[in-house]
Amino acid sequence: MNVAQFLVRTARIHPERPAVFSGERCLFDYRSLASRAARIAGHLRGPLGLAEGDRVAVFMTNCPEYLEVLYGIWWAGLVAVPANAKLHPKEVEFILEDSGAAALFVSEGLASGVLPLLAAAPALRQAFAPGTPDYAMLLAGAALAPQHRAPGDLAWLFYTSGTTGRPKGVMITHRNLCTMSSCYFADIDEVGPDDAIVYAAPMSHGAGLYNFMYVLKGARHVVPPSGGFDAAELAALAQALGRVALFAAPTMVKRLVAHVAETVAATGAEVSGFKTIVYGGGPMYVEDIRRALDVMGPRFVQIYGQGESPMTITALSRAQLAERGHPRWAERIASVGVAQALVEVRVADAHGRTLPAGETGEVLVRGDAVMAGYWRNPQASAQTLRDGWLWTGDLGAMDDEGFLTLKDRSKDVIVSGGSNIYPREVEEVLLKHPAVQEVSVIGRKDAEWGEVVVAFVVAGEGRERVGAQELDALCLDHIARFKRPKEYRFVASLPKNNYGKVLKTELRALLDADGHA
Ligand code: ATP
Repeated sequence: MNVAQFLVRTARIHPERPAVFSGERCLFDYRSLASRAARIAGHLRGPLGLAEGDRVAVFMTNCPEYLEVLYGIWWAGLVAVPANAKLHPKEVEFILEDSGAAALFVSEGLASGVLPLLAAAPALRQAFAPGTPDYAMLLAGAALAPQHRAPGDLAWLFYTSGTTGRPKGVMITHRNLCTMSSCYFADIDEVGPDDAIVYAAPMSHGAGLYNFMYVLKGARHVVPPSGGFDAAELAALAQALGRVALFAAPTMVKRLVAHVAETVAATGAEVSGFKTIVYGGGPMYVEDIRRALDVMGPRFVQIYGQGESPMTITALSRAQLAERGHPRWAERIASVGVAQALVEVRVADAHGRTLPAGETGEVLVRGDAVMAGYWRNPQASAQTLRDGWLWTGDLGAMDDEGFLTLKDRSKDVIVSGGSNIYPREVEEVLLKHPAVQEVSVIGRKDAEWGEVVVAFVVAGEGRERVGAQELDALCLDHIARFKRPKEYRFVASLPKNNYGKVLKTELRALLDADGHA
């Protein structure tokens, strides 16, 4: 059960199908994609002498070579260790050391930052940068036959962002990836051979893992020339390529929808070509999804997942999102949907007892998409995988029809005067104000209350000004008094990771630094 077999199969059945694109331009068909992967594998196992199960780090921005590198690693029976291209070289150094990576693929533009650190990674034998003569040599070598892998063998070693401490290596197996792919077909999108997946989000994360279904179907893989998310570029690509699917973080969806709305207003022309837009990875506020549906129609699917069960916990389908007439529609679009096909999801108390519908507890997940554990970290594994269930660290409530609504991550809950406050609830209220573009709510330590609520607010460009008093009045209209922010900070932007997720740790550090000043 080697996921590289997905590529082997398609290259055999549909060798001429266009596979990898840079923008609108096709670079390789499936025959050459497979041949390039086989040669990369040949070099890694041959001249470089890596052994089955060795780790190979990939520190690359989205680029057309990304897929051949991943498949080359799997083809060779090795383990891919993706590192987010926005990481600091020191963070990459940690990943290289902790994983014991024996080889590294690095984008040319990132190499200068990371290569001087390589001496600190004793296991590392060689680094390759696509576009360089070394890489060309590697592709000119002998091909290897795809190696056999057992379902439980490691395929993807993904490091958490480390917001809760030292980053941990999440061990994802070939079985996990196959299960994830089946869930995608069942619950998210029926991929067809004429579809195109556009990699607008980092391929080092879940977006990269969505490739499997498209490889299996012999569909197109498109890397935007900008290498990332640019709403205008994406809309033009969708128009040109047609049947485009993409995974987008909620902030990306918001920007794309704004762009499409502007285009429609300016030209009156419809923006076409988007087949499916999968969003998730962080909360999408209800106002934003309503607007997305108004502007772009029923082409959205929400997923809820985490590195430990990649992209695979629940899904809110296109039909459920579009069914405006349903009596529970308003609640449903605020939820993350129902358990994906091959996973079980329940909400439990601290002892693991399932809670009745509507009660808030921790979200637990079981099934073949769930990680094998944390790399060389039995303590963290035992804490997170208990009695066969993955304890997600997310708090939520499930209704009597199985729809799960997330409250927040347990580590983000603010406890003020002994009461729990879910930041997301406060954020949803503040976002109702037309002048508020973005907001993030966190707790600040307080001698009297334990913690008090602080809101960081970004006012929209060209919008009216907004003040604390107005926002306070808005809160008084919608939520209990004790949940209201005690302090508002108006900022130009919020710190985010390259997935668009707000880094609450940085906001907390800012408050702590002020407290000590
Ligand atoms: P770390 O685990 O190191 O703190 P992280 O939060 O970025 O990093 P990821 O695995 O990237 O970890 O993100 C998973 C988390 O994102 C989930 O546990 C959940 O809190 C949140 N999340 C994912 N999908 C959704 C969604 N559709 N709606 C709301 N939140 C979501």
